[in-house]
Amino acid sequence: MDLKFYGAVQEVTGSNILVEASNTRLLVDCGVFQGRKMIEDRNYEPFPYDAHSIKVVLLTHAHLDHCGRLPKLYHAGFRGKIFATAATLDLTLMSLNDSADIIEEEALENGRLPYYTKDDVANLTSLFQPVEYDQTIEVLPGIKACFREAGHILGSASIELFADGEKIVFSGDLGNHPVPILRPPATIDSADYVVMESTYGHDFHGDLSSRRKYLQDAVDYIIKHRGVLMIPAFAIQRTQEILYELDTLIEEGKIPADIPIYVDSPLAIEATEIFSKYPNYYNDQAKKIIRSGDDFLHFKSLKFTPKVEDSKAINFVDPPKIVIAGSGMITAGRITHHIRRYISDERNYLLIVGFQVAGTMGRRLMDGEKQIGIFHEKHIVRAKVEVATCFSAHADQKQLIEWLSNIKGVKKVYLNHGEKENIEALSVVVQKQLNLTTEIPQMPMTKPTPPQVVATA
Ligand SMILES: [Zn+2]
Repeated sequence: MDLKFYGAVQEVTGSNILVEASNTRLLVDCGVFQGRKMIEDRNYEPFPYDAHSIKVVLLTHAHLDHCGRLPKLYHAGFRGKIFATAATLDLTLMSLNDSADIIEEEALENGRLPYYTKDDVANLTSLFQPVEYDQTIEVLPGIKACFREAGHILGSASIELFADGEKIVFSGDLGNHPVPILRPPATIDSADYVVMESTYGHDFHGDLSSRRKYLQDAVDYIIKHRGVLMIPAFAIQRTQEILYELDTLIEEGKIPADIPIYVDSPLAIEATEIFSKYPNYYNDQAKKIIRSGDDFLHFKSLKFTPKVEDSKAINFVDPPKIVIAGSGMITAGRITHHIRRYISDERNYLLIVGFQVAGTMGRRLMDGEKQIGIFHEKHIVRAKVEVATCFSAHADQKQLIEWLSNIKGVKKVYLNHGEKENIEALSVVVQKQLNLTTEIPQMPMTKPTPPQVVATA
């Protein structure tokens, strides 16, 4: 087997690995590059390989930096199957349709053609091939794959790939266990080679049990001050985890059952409905709660506001109230309207629960800026701002090492999907603690050679 890394190379986005094995080619993930404009411009470049020559895509999970260029791949001529868990395929379709609108809008502004359209997304679905966890399936003649729980978001998987007498494991993004709803990453017992993500290869997340405490403190504050709690949240996983924690706090009598909680994001609402379709993917505790008749994604004080008029009506509800809305880094979406309305009042509370990229509104608020501009107006920050990094969806260094330590027979570990300092730090620890050889892949400089054509008699 031969691997070429065409994305997530000393960076965290654009995951795209070309595998050449058994005289054919497949991809593991086909994600978008995200970040500054210069980075995102790379999404418009042609693929460095012939899309027709790719026979199959194995998709680890539904985050756009792993699935976001699939419609572009279709547009470029790919017609093979896309293997992923059923929940991943549902969430992928949702995310691709949502971002098609944004891509088309941005392309129009910049006077260029979008790198994919909704039509490409619609066509792509004919290639979707759902797979079950833990079942080894033949994805191409002579190539087998097994999808294992990755515990990162609903449906996420690590992939075991068997070809040419070798086994490679692709970690995908690994979760920050224990988390509500999801199972922990599966234990994989052997591999010849491992490709492992390194997002937090340098970091440690700290005490995970403090998640509920952050929510409890925030709710206590808005009850005391009759304020509004704003939680900017990503649509997939983070929103549902927060709902789970809030429902648990209500069940335990730690927060009142009558404070209205709004999920004010059409995307997060759609994602929540997809979560409800797949209770078989939940961990034992979450399954038990559902079986007991307590639906933590649809409880009494929880209100979904998909329509704009319902969203606006939240303004007229007396506090205390809780609003969960996107975008997760306050770069767009309905959360910006709530921030504009509530950020200058010291009775209110902003709880930041996810990684905030430099330059975003979320990052500026997290860094303690006291004045922000929204919709060309200046607003003084008087609301309480709290940051809870323990809500991260990624494994930290300790968890990555633990996952890798279970895999026996490893000849080499390829470290991808991380900024340089994270990858380098992780590389040192993998070598020292586990005594394994590591490689930090580089982006190939030249186009890969076409696959060898096997002569037939
Ligand atoms: Zn991810």
